[in-house]
Amino acid sequence: MDMQAKQPDPLIFHLTGKVPGGPRSNGLRAIDGLDLRPALLAPYRDLGAIRHDFPVLLVEGGSATGFAQPLSGLVDAVLKDVAPRGIEGERLRRHGLQLEREIRRSVDAGGTGTLAELWNAAAAQLGAREGETLEKVLSHAGGALRADGELLGCSHDMPARLITHAWKAGQRAKARQFHADLSRLVLKLSDILRAAFSHSQAGRQPQALKASVGGPHQDAFDFDALSRIVGKGAPRDELPAARRERLVRTLGVLESQRYYAPAEPEPSGDGSEYFDFRFDNCAAAAQSFAKRLGDLTELVKALGVAELEASGRYVEAEHDLFFDAFDAHSLSADDLARFPDYLVCIPADRNDAPENANLMGMLSSGLPVKVLVQTSDLLEDASIGTGRFAFGVRSARLATTAMGLGGMFVLQSASANLIALQAQISRGLASREPALFSVFAGSAQPASQLPPYLTAAAAMQSRAFPAFSYDAAAGANWAARFSLENNPQRDDDWSVETLPYFDAALQRASERCAFTFADFVLCDSRHARHFALVAPERWSADMLPAADWLALGEGEAAKRIPYLLAVDDDDALQRVVVDARLMQATRRCLLLWRRLQEHGGVHDSHAERLLAVEKAAWAAEQQPAQAPAPVAAGPAVPAGAAAAADAVVAAEAPAHSPDEAWIETARCPSCNECQLINDRMFTYDERKQAYIKDITAGTYRQLVEAAESCQVAIIHPGKPRDPNEPGLAELLERAAPFR
Ligand code: SF4
Repeated sequence: MDMQAKQPDPLIFHLTGKVPGGPRSNGLRAIDGLDLRPALLAPYRDLGAIRHDFPVLLVEGGSATGFAQPLSGLVDAVLKDVAPRGIEGERLRRHGLQLEREIRRSVDAGGTGTLAELWNAAAAQLGAREGETLEKVLSHAGGALRADGELLGCSHDMPARLITHAWKAGQRAKARQFHADLSRLVLKLSDILRAAFSHSQAGRQPQALKASVGGPHQDAFDFDALSRIVGKGAPRDELPAARRERLVRTLGVLESQRYYAPAEPEPSGDGSEYFDFRFDNCAAAAQSFAKRLGDLTELVKALGVAELEASGRYVEAEHDLFFDAFDAHSLSADDLARFPDYLVCIPADRNDAPENANLMGMLSSGLPVKVLVQTSDLLEDASIGTGRFAFGVRSARLATTAMGLGGMFVLQSASANLIALQAQISRGLASREPALFSVFAGSAQPASQLPPYLTAAAAMQSRAFPAFSYDAAAGANWAARFSLENNPQRDDDWSVETLPYFDAALQRASERCAFTFADFVLCDSRHARHFALVAPERWSADMLPAADWLALGEGEAAKRIPYLLAVDDDDALQRVVVDARLMQATRRCLLLWRRLQEHGGVHDSHAERLLAVEKAAWAAEQQPAQAPAPVAAGPAVPAGAAAAADAVVAAEAPAHSPDEAWIETARCPSCNECQLINDRMFTYDERKQAYIKDITAGTYRQLVEAAESCQVAIIHPGKPRDPNEPGLAELLERAAPFR
């Protein structure tokens, strides 16, 4: 076909990805260097001026569930405390928000420090601009801050620092519990040994008796005489040798544990004698776990012996055998849960490194490990070997792959959304199962034209990196285990917002605009070649918003041109055509999103099918109840008349050739399957029963797939209309049972 002669330029670009006649021709131009962004992101140019979750405070000494707070929330709390209600407080509230902006901009520009430090610096800066009194007022207001700690922006290292901070809070709680148990047991065992000593001959020697009496009274007694009196008949050692040896050995293991440093650092040490549980790769964590396993087993064993001894329940005949056989295989999940979890934060550029190759193996082996994997690039331009456009193949699939293995906790989220998912982070860190946190940190996305926070938020908004969690321990089914979390408009294909703008006549206008995967790609200059800008005079009715284009059947889509609404530097509204390759990737993204939706119970095909079956059964049940009514109202029907009536109905029903595509509409229980395949080809009539509305709106393949999906087998695909449709031989074979 002579494309140049027959097709308009936007369609040629869409089909080929080439701008006919060069980068700028005939109202169509390449977008390199134009700095376009999706129109829905136009209001976010000055992110520093907009209140959002960042910067965030890592609360000093925070709990495992309250480890971070957005600056905006802290400022609100301060202003509530210090600013008078009503109009008198308005000036202070305005300055408070001004100070918040100042801090946000400072952190975005790379400023670091605690909240108190950054607060005072921002107050000083505002004071220098607007007067010393303002600085004093704001510094005074800072005294009302309810927490302090480090402030973090949404930078590339934020996810690791945030998760490490939360992990530390959890380990502190575990350490407190462990030390309480340890001190109690050490004290009990020491008491047993001390009591046995004081009742023994050695304990009744004059020197031992003198040491047991307080200093001021030591001269008041004759300890030699006392020893002769109380020492009579005292045993050499009250404890049997085996028990003494067991108590001393157990006490030694407990007192030399290296898993938790004491809350108060020991004056003699620098803490290096205690194990570290933080790693930056899987291999090192797994090796350390294996190396320490012997120690861990001994410690667990000692804790078990100590508990029994402390409560006087140790029975040698029974427990000696048990503890002699106790080894690493005897460790239970409860045992491991008392000790620190291994935390592995893999840097974004080391995901593929050999030392992390066994990530899945480590997670599925049940090691007490929490792993953070950061993804730096969702737009890899390579599904290797094919050269076809692919996106985030490894990264976006990591969490779903882990979820498929089961037996663990999985959380996927863009970094911008992590603060909103604090509770889920806590749950994952507290879980007894291994946990995987898969995070897209927008800051590392190469060539993104947006600030890191916005890149990450756009990834979630566009379904390129949706948020979800999976907790194997939460219940027995998907409904209990899986959550689609806080994705925007989670019941829909895309999130859709109203875009207000001024039209060419400077009249206020608005339209509903979906934010698709293609919009996310538009933010990345590496992929500019997938778009072409269309001059307004070339806009035509053939052009469709990308989300609407995706809803078309194949036949119709081939005639239309998908576009996105974008804005340039001056916020002028533009249309950019998207090439077929990127639309294919966008369709794939949608498919993956729909799979997640199904896991989350949104448009669950099983539920919808079941509903249709139930509806059909209900309809069938109603049939006999309704049938007698006309008989009762009318004259008696003679025997054989019913059969004759059936014959009349059959004779009146149109005859269908096996070559014709049709649906037995009267039998349709409205399960919706056919419309999920192509809702332009199949639709419902006024009784909500399906019929073929437009046979040209789809392919023969879709007809056959609908026939196969129809649970009551009432779709008859007939014969293909297009003899050139690919794969016809196979399709005809599949269609045969339904024709
Ligand atoms: S025709 Fe079949 S697939 Fe379509 S709605 Fe009816 S029962 Fe479902």
